[in-house]
Amino acid sequence: MKYISVLGSTGSIGTQTLEVVRNNGDIQVTALAAGRNIRLLEKQIREFHPALACVWDEDKAKELRIKTADLPVRIVWGMEGLLEAAVEARAQIVVTAVVGMIGIRPTIAAMEAGKDIALANKETLVTAGHIIMPLAREKGVRILPVDSEHSAIFQCLNGEDRRAVHRILLTASGGPFRGRTRDQLRNVRVEDALKHPNWSMGRKITIDSSTMVNKGLEVMEAGWLFGVRMEQVQVVVQPKSIIHSMVEFDDGAVIAQLGTPDMKLPIQYALYYPERRFLPGERLDFWTLNQIAFEKPDFENFRGLLLAYRAGERGGSLPTVFNAANEWAVNEFLNRRISYLDITDRIERAMDEHTAADNPTVEEILAAEAWTYELLSGLRQP
Ligand code: NDP
Repeated sequence: MKYISVLGSTGSIGTQTLEVVRNNGDIQVTALAAGRNIRLLEKQIREFHPALACVWDEDKAKELRIKTADLPVRIVWGMEGLLEAAVEARAQIVVTAVVGMIGIRPTIAAMEAGKDIALANKETLVTAGHIIMPLAREKGVRILPVDSEHSAIFQCLNGEDRRAVHRILLTASGGPFRGRTRDQLRNVRVEDALKHPNWSMGRKITIDSSTMVNKGLEVMEAGWLFGVRMEQVQVVVQPKSIIHSMVEFDDGAVIAQLGTPDMKLPIQYALYYPERRFLPGERLDFWTLNQIAFEKPDFENFRGLLLAYRAGERGGSLPTVFNAANEWAVNEFLNRRISYLDITDRIERAMDEHTAADNPTVEEILAAEAWTYELLSGLRQP
């Protein structure tokens, strides 16, 4: 039996993680954490019987406590509760599937407690990779990538000498607006940006995929996970998301991982690594696949990717500002307060205004986040 905790259990990655648990039957869920969706959380508690469940809102937690009074589950709330869920005693693996920088502290707490991390929450690694990666080594815990591209790279590296990695070829679908000019992007509406051609994901990452900011975050994530420099990560557009990523080695050999777009594969791989389990679902059919096409990314019209390289190359607190400005701007866009192109414009503005600090502590990372929010909220005032 394996024991896991799932932070962000009501979201896209969280629910697919629980689907993997349901399909396999030999994983016990010890803790669940969610933001506000207590209806789904209650259902999950009844099905998976965790000892602990956390809700962000105190009021919602109290409501859930009443609803689950017949069950032996302890309901906690807020950051304190999230930290408790992260360190629940029996868990061996903590799946970090919350969205945004809120994931930093629980991820660190889980590692301090000796848990392996199945990492979906890329914002944590982007902003605090310089803390997370050395801590993983110090504590002897594994960071198992859940992001499909990073899982692909991880799989390509199985049994290989990491010092022989020449380049990482990070594939991108190009999102729903591939091929459009900035002028054609001007009037993109929220509902257009929420339609991803291949993957069904949470709202924030779907917007990030359409702007290519997600790919930028992934470039930085790959840098930390695989110990490569930004210029060693090349983004390759491959619209059908069949190749999930590739690694080019020093001798010129390229190893790729392919599959149908299904997040349950990387999730299951992370939970059972190095074992491979049967996964029900559609398989690739090379007789009908016909062709796989590749393109260079459009850096000019999708500036998010270019800005991410700039943030990653500078490092320090600049990736936090990139990420926080994006989180702020995506939220504003989803609430129809700024336009689509404003998202990358605001990221660039915040980065231009920021004086980056080297090796920020968690407190300094959170201060840089607050600084970014303050700056951008100030710009919103008439
Ligand atoms: P969703 O928006 O679908 O889910 C986010 C989850 O986080 C929900 O369970 C939400 O709870 C919870 N949450 C939000 N705020 C808090 C909080 N303050 N405390 C506790 N829980 C909270 O996001 P995704 O599943 O799409 O993405 C999660 C992470 O995984 C992101 O970092 C994303 O970049 C990454 N990722 C996602 C992929 C995907 O296919 N979706 C692929 C690769 C990476 P509630 O809904 O109850 O409010």
